[in-house]
Amino acid sequence: MLDCAIIGGGPAGLTAGLYATRGGLKNVTLFEMGVPGGQITKSSEIENYPGFFDSSKTGLDFMDTWQKQCFNFGLKHEMKKVESIQKTEGHFTITLEGGETVEAMTAIVCTGAVPRRAGFKGEDEFYGRGVSTCATCDGFFYKEKPVTVLGGGDTALEEAFFLSNICSDVYVVHRRDEFRAAPPTLDRAMRKENIHLITDSVIEEAVGGAMGLSGIDIKNIKTDEITHMDNTGLFVFVGQDVKNDVLKDDNGEFICKMSDLGQVVVDLNMNTSVPGLFVAGDLRINAPKQVVSAAGDGSIAALQVISYIQEQQ
Ligand code: FAD
Ligand code: NAP
Repeated sequence: MLDCAIIGGGPAGLTAGLYATRGGLKNVTLFEMGVPGGQITKSSEIENYPGFFDSSKTGLDFMDTWQKQCFNFGLKHEMKKVESIQKTEGHFTITLEGGETVEAMTAIVCTGAVPRRAGFKGEDEFYGRGVSTCATCDGFFYKEKPVTVLGGGDTALEEAFFLSNICSDVYVVHRRDEFRAAPPTLDRAMRKENIHLITDSVIEEAVGGAMGLSGIDIKNIKTDEITHMDNTGLFVFVGQDVKNDVLKDDNGEFICKMSDLGQVVVDLNMNTSVPGLFVAGDLRINAPKQVVSAAGDGSIAALQVISYIQEQQ
């Protein structure tokens, strides 16, 4: 039986693994369905992680050393998707994709969040064929061409800035006339001459054919006027949805207390309503959605796991 199963290998899960193994637990496995690193690996930059001050590095570069450091203390890694986690007879049963099960005394769930779809016509049809949620991954395809960014938050404005250094013009379409992004991020975008803010507007439709996206219709929601734009890539940054599926039982009910927004209710020690089950990072209630806080949560959860196991013995 594992001392601890960690589900999700973003900043929260990796840090939990580091603290659990460095804190003396011998039998800890991190289950991560992709390459460890989490959402921040989709970011073109990171400039608010204390002690890290290199604007030339992407989120992927930034997370590279985390893995090396975390695995150095004996954390095991299985590149597998977790389907569900159930508590039975005082311990946890983790079911992996394919049906294999693993038993663990404790679990820290750090499955984070995924990019949200905006819901306009053609979005799903052209996803991966002109519609993208990753500027670092796909920006280069539009070198010296115009692109459109949808959204008005930090991610949209930061990624618009990144794209403005590759693409000829970046049109930021936002549904309101006030932006959610932090003021310095918005100021920086406004100062860049090839970034154009199109407010009070939404994407009405993404259009194209067998070759992928060919253009978009942008609708001004105050005037109903539609502007068609040809030859543009479309980057959608409209927030994230938390990944809470692993916490559902066979009947689709959550095994622990959740908020109305689908986030897990935890206390300051990352305890959920189920003893021995901890949740860290963007999946938890009131998460600040920052790498530094996800990492902090992971460390707290791991220290609590160590105390919990000591109390059980
Ligand atoms: P995540 O990073 O979401 O990691 C969750 C991991 O769990 C993923 O690797 C996923 O593959 C895995 N997983 C999910 N479900 C399963 C499953 N069933 N089985 C196995 N594995 C699973 N924050 C900042 O502080 N500064 C920034 O500059 C910044 N920029 C950002 C830019 C972008 C484009 C985005 C999207 C986010 C940005 N953030 C930034 C926010 C930051 O990335 C997140 O707050 C942070 O990554 C959350 O960490 P986490 O470990 O909770 O979850
Ligand atoms: P966000 O803050 O939730 O912003 C989402 C944006 O998309 C909002 O402007 C929203 O409009 C818009 N939107 C939502 N649904 C839409 C739809 N269906 N159609 C059109 N527009 C839609 O998401 P985020 O920018 O991804 O940021 C997520 C979290 O990560 C935030 O807490 C953020 O601060 C954090 N983050 C931090 C940094 C950093 O610290 N440097 C960088 C990136 C992200 P409204 O404004 O009208 O709601």
